[in-house]
Order: sequence, then structure tokens, then C-alpha cells
Amino acid sequence: MELSERIANIQPSATLAFSNRAKEMTAQGIDVLNLAVGQPDFKTPDYIGYAAIKAIEDHQVDGYTAATGITPLKKAIVDHVNARHGTDFADRDIVITNGAKFALYAVVQALLNPGDEVVIPLPYWVSYGEQVKLAGAKLALARPSKGLKVTVADLERVRTERTKMLVLNNPNNPSGEVFTKEELTAIANWAVEHDLIILADDIYGDLVYNGTKFTSVLDLSEEVIAHTVLVNGFSKSYAMTGWRVGYALAPRKVAKALGAYLSQVSSNIAAVSQYAALAALTDPRGEETVEEMRQTYEERLNTIVPLINDLPGVHVEKAAGAFYLFPDVSEAVKLTGFKTTDEFVNGVLEEAHVSIVPGKAFGMDGHVRLSYAADLATLKKALQRIKDFIEQYQQ
Ligand code: PMP
Ligand code: GLU
Repeated sequence: MELSERIANIQPSATLAFSNRAKEMTAQGIDVLNLAVGQPDFKTPDYIGYAAIKAIEDHQVDGYTAATGITPLKKAIVDHVNARHGTDFADRDIVITNGAKFALYAVVQALLNPGDEVVIPLPYWVSYGEQVKLAGAKLALARPSKGLKVTVADLERVRTERTKMLVLNNPNNPSGEVFTKEELTAIANWAVEHDLIILADDIYGDLVYNGTKFTSVLDLSEEVIAHTVLVNGFSKSYAMTGWRVGYALAPRKVAKALGAYLSQVSSNIAAVSQYAALAALTDPRGEETVEEMRQTYEERLNTIVPLINDLPGVHVEKAAGAFYLFPDVSEAVKLTGFKTTDEFVNGVLEEAHVSIVPGKAFGMDGHVRLSYAADLATLKKALQRIKDFIEQYQQ
């Protein structure tokens, strides 16, 4: 059976693949420490699960809901967003999707034509590129000239008259970097100046550390907001990856088109998940649980940065968001005599039994992504194993 050209060329998600490989090794009885994982290591808070159980018992979840989601959840999200960013979104401006991943996919489907170009800053999360290609559009990858954050000059270098969209993931997966308000303003104004759509992915917006303030494009100006489609979800802030609740907030015409699209391709997401998400936002314990998790990540970040910089040939700046770091390992690869970062990463997995993701998956070779969505004991043990591994091969 011939696959469609569209699907034949698709790359499976490298982050999911590396994480699954670690799980398989664990199932074979190997003591693998999984730092490839891109999901919180916390349990979904109990009050959320109990709200879902109650919705089942009350038979609120037995039938289809509106394809775009239940009104109370839409209202709770727009209230939350409006309170935080001083915006005035209404429930007509939002669609609830199967995770933020499907929100991104639906937006790209709704807004891109074949031949359009999409600027994506490097390093970038694995799914943006494949989703853009699935829409028949082209990637224009913008490489930071310094460090891991692009500037307007870096973006301008890859802009052409076919550029239609800019993907802006802040805080960033895989680098953990967070744009300052000034940096973000410059970039957003550049996008507006060239009439680009800003596809903003704020999924790690609640997870910033050490006094860093998160600025969303929604905080900038009416003009920026008019150019923006905002994607977010419950997976990271509330440790709800399995529930699959995300959303897109868009100018009304786009939100309406997204609704029509969802009504044809997916219908509503599981009703029970919508009630769980509603509880996450409306229960008074919500904010406190997000804050507890944030503090735990912060403590881990502060503990592991010096340990990573202590690894021979490895260097990382202290990024302040998400739960990833993206150290430069190019020296360590040379020191150990491996030919490529991929081979080094493979050696770390097969011999040191630590799973990390090679930077190439995020468009930046010479780096690796390491997730600190793991407890401190695991993180320390994993870094010690990597240290022993490098020292053993050091020439
Ligand atoms: N955006 C980014 C940057 C992510 O890291 C993820 C997590 N895989 C998502 C979107 C999608 O998250 P979900 O589909 O679980 O809401
Ligand atoms: N966001 C996670 C990651 O980057 C989940 C994996 C995925 O959806 O690809 O690892």
C-alpha cells in the first residue's frame, strides 16, 4: 500500500521516540534514568481527578459537546487570560483542542497555503517543522547569531516576501530561554511591521524561575494581539499531559474557521477532560498547586546548572524557563572521541543508561536537551553517570 507523499515524508516526534526508548529499556529491567521526557513528573492534582469523577457520576460527559468545547471551560479560560493580560477575549474567540499540539496543527492548517513560508527560531520544538510541512508550507529556520535566543536581525535574515508566519515559543522548548519584555517587543513589532501572523506558544508560561518575569505577546499592544494566534494548554502547568487539553485563542474570523475545521476532523475532545480542566482553573487550589510545582523545578534548576557545568567539555547558561536545559556538548564529544553528538548521546544511553535528546532533533547540533522534570536524586545520579562516562572515554 502506497503512503501519501504528505505522510511518507513525516518524521516521528524525536522527543517522544527517545522517551519511549528509555521506557522500553526500563521494561527490560535496565535501570535507565530518563531525562528525555518532556512532561511533568508530578501527578495531576487530586482535586482535578475528583472533579472528573464527579462529572462522570453526574452523567455530564455522556454525549458530544460543542466541537469547540463546553462554554464554562471557554469562559474560565478567557477570564483567566483576560485577568492576566488585560485582554478582552470572549468565549467565541477560543477553541478547545486535543492538547496544544493539535491546536498548533489546526492553526497551521487554517492559515497556511502551499508555498507560504514560516519563520521558526532555532532551536525549535520538534513538531512545528513537521506540522508546517504537512500544510505544504516551507520552513525558514532562524539561527541565533549569539547564544540561544534570536534577535530581529536573525529573523530578518530569513524573511522573504513569501513569509506569512512567525512561530514564537516562549519560554522555549528545548532551550528553556525566556525573552525579556524588550526582546519580545522588538520581535513582535518586527512581525507586525511585515504583517506576519504570530503563532505564539505560551505553554511553559507559568514555569519561569529565579525572579524572571514572563511576558506574553498578549501583554504588548492591540496591534500585536490582532496579529496573534495564541496556543496554550493544561499539560505542563497542571501536570495533565494525559488528559489532552489545549486551546487556541484567535481573532474571531480565525476562531470561527478553527471551529468549522474541528467539527469536521475531530469533534470535541473527551468531555471528561474538559471538566477536569475546568476544575484546574476554577478550584481555589489551582494557583497554589502550579506554584508548588514551579518552586520544585526552580530548586532543581539551581542545583543542576553547576553540576552540568562541572562535566568535562559541557557548558550551559542558566536558562530561566520551562523544564529543559540545552547544554553545548561539542567539546565533550571531541574529548571522548565520538564522531557525532548523536553517537555520544547513544553512548550515554547504552552505556551510562541516561536518556537525553540530541540537539539535532531541535535543529541545533552540538547540543543536547536534558529535562529536569525528574526528582533531584535522579538528576544528580544521571549527571554523575554522564560525568563518569565522559571521564572514562576522555582521551
Ligand atoms: N508546545 C510545546 C513547546 C511543547 O513542548 C509541547 C509538549 N509536547 C506542546 C506544545 C504540546 O503539549 P500538549 O499537546 O500536551 O498540550
Ligand atoms: N513536549 C514534550 C517534549 O518536547 C512532549 C513530547 C512531544 O509531544 O513531542 O518532549
